[in-house]
Amino acid sequence: MMNIGVLALQGDFAEHIVMLKKIGVEAREVRLPEHLDGLDGLIIPGGESTTIGKLAVHYNLMKPLQEFGKSHAIWGTCAGAIFLSKDANRDQPLLGLMDITVQRNAFGRQVDSFETDLVIDELLKATQTTHPYHAVFIRAPIIEAVSGNAKILSQLKDGRIVAALEGRLLATSFHPELTDDPRFHQYFLSLAQK
Ligand code: GLN
Repeated sequence: MMNIGVLALQGDFAEHIVMLKKIGVEAREVRLPEHLDGLDGLIIPGGESTTIGKLAVHYNLMKPLQEFGKSHAIWGTCAGAIFLSKDANRDQPLLGLMDITVQRNAFGRQVDSFETDLVIDELLKATQTTHPYHAVFIRAPIIEAVSGNAKILSQLKDGRIVAALEGRLLATSFHPELTDDPRFHQYFLSLAQK
């Protein structure tokens, strides 16, 4: 059985754990470096990226998380994607594991929460499905740029990037844990299995 950890410093880690259990995965909250031992992959949830970063520094998690990411799958959703990035256009603790630049709260006040359907080829292929993925954005970041080995997984109709992949590192601007659709979590399991 796969064993997936969810960084549980702040944010909606509980929802990720519920989804993982629903699809038959062993899920564990990660709060300290030793909680990473034996995991096949890690999810960093949405929340507030500055708070997650500060707490990760406080609990001496920065180095262990960076090491873990060199040889394991990590998926950051929303604030988690910001924390995975190497550049968030401002000074805050970042893991710098993914070659992506993000813009926080990129959708402005009026539409800072919205939902939309995305067709993500990689996801459809991995889950052998054809229907679009309904994505929930909450004060979401935009992935401004991908470089190096990072590649674009999904874009809005206007071209803004909302999901990226670099090896086994995955970043999504939106929140698959807040829907009933388990396909993104299943896709992440396929990365963790590789
Ligand atoms: N706005 C938050 C940030 O910048 C992210 C929001 C979220 O995770 N839903 O960290």
